[in-house]
Parts: sequence; structure tokens; C-alpha cells
Amino acid sequence: MEPKETAEDIVIVGAGFAGLATALGLHKKGVRSLVLESSPELRVSGFAFTAWKNAFRALDALGVGDKIRKQHVQLQALRIMSSATGEIAQEVDLTVHGKGEPNEIRCVRRDLLLQALEEELPRGTIRYSSKIVSIEEDGAAKILQLADGSVLRAKVLIGCDGINSLVATSLGLAKPSYSGRVAMRGLAHFPDGHGFEPKFLQFIGRGFRSGMRPCNETDIYWFFTWTPSENDKGVPDSAGKMKQFVLANLRSLKVPAEALSVIERTEMNDVLAVPLRFRSPLPLITASICKGNVCVAGDALHPMTPDLAQGGCSTLEDAVILARCLGKAILEESRRGDAGNKRIEAGLNEYAKFRRWRSIELITTAYAVGFIQQSNNVIISFLREKFLSGFLARRLLKMAEYNCGTL
Ligand SMILES: Cc1cc2nc3c(=O)[nH]c(=O)nc-3n(C[C@H](O)[C@H](O)[C@H](O)COP(=O)(O)OP(=O)(O)OC[C@H]3O[C@@H](n4cnc5c(N)ncnc54)[C@H](O)[C@@H]3O)c2cc1C
Repeated sequence: MEPKETAEDIVIVGAGFAGLATALGLHKKGVRSLVLESSPELRVSGFAFTAWKNAFRALDALGVGDKIRKQHVQLQALRIMSSATGEIAQEVDLTVHGKGEPNEIRCVRRDLLLQALEEELPRGTIRYSSKIVSIEEDGAAKILQLADGSVLRAKVLIGCDGINSLVATSLGLAKPSYSGRVAMRGLAHFPDGHGFEPKFLQFIGRGFRSGMRPCNETDIYWFFTWTPSENDKGVPDSAGKMKQFVLANLRSLKVPAEALSVIERTEMNDVLAVPLRFRSPLPLITASICKGNVCVAGDALHPMTPDLAQGGCSTLEDAVILARCLGKAILEESRRGDAGNKRIEAGLNEYAKFRRWRSIELITTAYAVGFIQQSNNVIISFLREKFLSGFLARRLLKMAEYNCGTL
């Protein structure tokens, strides 16, 4: 018997930040969409992320900014410390601002953001346990084959399916490359309060990059990125070994004792390691970010190393711009009673125009910042300690100035 085929106007693949924020943006424009998620529930990976001003602009556009602000402390300073000397290489007061609006930086728990986005969506928008396994064409429509054997016909297909995106592959985008670096992340919970200052603390040099920041009064998020050498036995294979690995590395350097205590405090199952991957920016200059009625957003479009802490923030920018461009096209199409996809294609092309250079700039800058911050090379280390730390700190703030606008 042939599998039953159902039809939907707009199908979004993936219920991460990109998928949920795009669905919410469209919903706010009065446009319905269906989000297909392979996991049986919201998939939270990575504990927390740094959300800069550009992310809060996007969250405000989506109507959830204040909810997230109430749940997270505003970070007051960015302190970059040299692990070689133990000294403060650079401290930027985030409460002082120049020409633009004040800085806003919070370390946001991923589960809380996903829940906030989900809560605003109409019931039934997300279909869980729905993994797309293949995409075929039938005229202008896309035929999606699901792992459970069902088939869905989509008029518009939006790939928000992360770094291993099937939709990106169907558009011909290159597979992300391994950067040669690995990141470990953890969350330390202090039920009676951690007492840490609301500062964004970062340790650089000696072949690794590490940092920590409080999310709220009880949770501190930390990360550690390094380059496993050819001779290394590789990444530690259990959460316990990973934690010991990070502690051994940090103890051998001049990292403050209070920072070590955060990692010691972390429960073993609250530690996660991932290889860092990025999409080469050069082919993205001419690549198809959208084709016909298909496009990609979030990590499916611009996987980058986490050195700018902008992957998730720029994903939220994508969502607002995509919802604005696509929403306008769809509403115009139905107002005029147009047949065909011309307006939708034009809307997606407009989105791609906004996002192409922003994506290329972010991927490239993130890679360069990671290279400089983590390098063990004597000359780069010298330049970094003497001159580059301030430049890098200003670069982080500059990237967060982007304004995606309103819906
Ligand atoms: C170590 C590290 C630290 C980071 N730190 C920061 C930071 O501080 N600040 C910041 O802004 N960003 C940070 N990022 C980047 C950020 O995590 C990502 O950019 C962001 O999570 C991307 O969201 P997304 O929705 O595009 O993808 P994802 O969160 O990966 O969501 C994709 C979703 O699609 C689903 N899916 C995949 N394939 C299918 C399929 N075939 N069918 C159905 N569903 C599917 C998945 O289950 C998943 O739920 C960091 C990344 C890493 C690796």
C-alpha cells in the first residue's frame, strides 16, 4: 500500500533556535507553518550560550526578550585573562556605551529559550519524532519522506536542521569542515547561590581557550576549547574523564582558584564535548542559500566555530529576517490571489541577500579570532598579549551591533 501523503504550505525542518524562532516570526505575521523535529521532545544540547545585543533585538522582535531578561543576569564586564601570565589582558566595561544603544550580554540557558519560543507557538505547530530522510521534487513542490514512512508535500521548505542539514545538502551547500579543535562545555549548579560577579570571564593562550559566565544566581556555564594533537589519544571518552582533563589543563596554568572550583562543582553528566566545525566562507559567496521555494537558516546556513559566540545569536537574526521577507511575500500572494511561487521566491531571495555577507563575515571572523586566541605560536602569543586582546574584545562587541529590525 502507498504511504499516505499529506500537504502543508510551509514546512520547517528542525525545532532548534532557528526553527522555533522562524515559526514564531511567521506566526506573528499571521502565517501558519509546521515544524518537523526528529527528537521526541525539545532537544537541548550545550546547556547555555552567550546572547549579545543583536540576539536580544531579535528576541524583542519575536516578543520574548523580556521573559529571557527576567531569567538571566546582565553581564557587566568582559574580562580576558592571559593563562600564561595570570594577568588581566583586557577588561571591557560593558555598562559603558559609545554611540549606539547600551550593550546587553547575558548567558542564556538553552532550555529556557527553547521553552519560551515553544510556549508562544500555537498548539500542534511542532511535530516531534518526525525525521526527514529524503527530499524530492514534484514540480514546484517538495516531497518529504519521513523516517516513519509517511510523506509530506511542502509548498515552501525551510531547513533549520543544524550543522548536518539535509536541506543544505539538497541545495548543494558544502558539508562543514572540521576545524581541528574540540569544545567541552559544562554547567555548574549552586542551589544556594554562586556569589560570582556578573562578568564574562575568558582565559586565552597556551593552546586552549576557556571561559565561564553566570546565567543567573545559581548556574554558571563554562567552556574549554583545545586542539587535540596527532599524538593525543583523542577526546576523553567519558564525562568524568573530560572534567579531569579540563581541570588538569587549567591547574597547570595560572587560572584563578575560584574558576577551578566551578569546574570541580560540575556534575559529571553536565559535561559535553563536540568537534568544532564550520562552513568554508569562500564557496558561500556564490552558493545557493535558497533555490525556488527552499532555503536554510541557522547552523544549516552558517555553521561557525564558537569563538565569537555568535552562531545562535545570528540564527535568531536569520529567523526575524526570514519571517519578515517570507511573511510579506505570502500575505501579498494571498491578498492578490496570485497562483505560482514568484512572490515566495522573491521573498526568499531577499532574505538570502540580507544573510549572505553577514554569514561570510561571521564565519571568517570567528575562525580568525579562534586561531589568534588559541595559538601557541610565540609571535602570535606576544602580539596577542600586547596588542590583540583589546582588538579582539572590540571585534566581539562590533559583531553584536547588528540590527535585524522588526518583523
Ligand atoms: C561549543 C559551542 C559553543 C557555542 N556557543 C555559542 C554562544 O555562546 N553564543 C551563540 O550565539 N552561539 C553559540 N554556539 C552556536 C549555537 O549553538 C548554534 O549556532 C545554534 O544552536 C544553532 O541553532 P539551529 O537551530 O540552527 O541548530 P540546532 O540547534 O542544531 O537545531 C537543529 C534541530 O534540527 C533537528 N534536525 C536535524 N536534522 C533533522 C531531520 N533530518 N529531520 C528533523 N529534524 C532534524 C535537530 O534534532 C535539532 O533539534 C555554540 C556552538 C558550539 C558548538
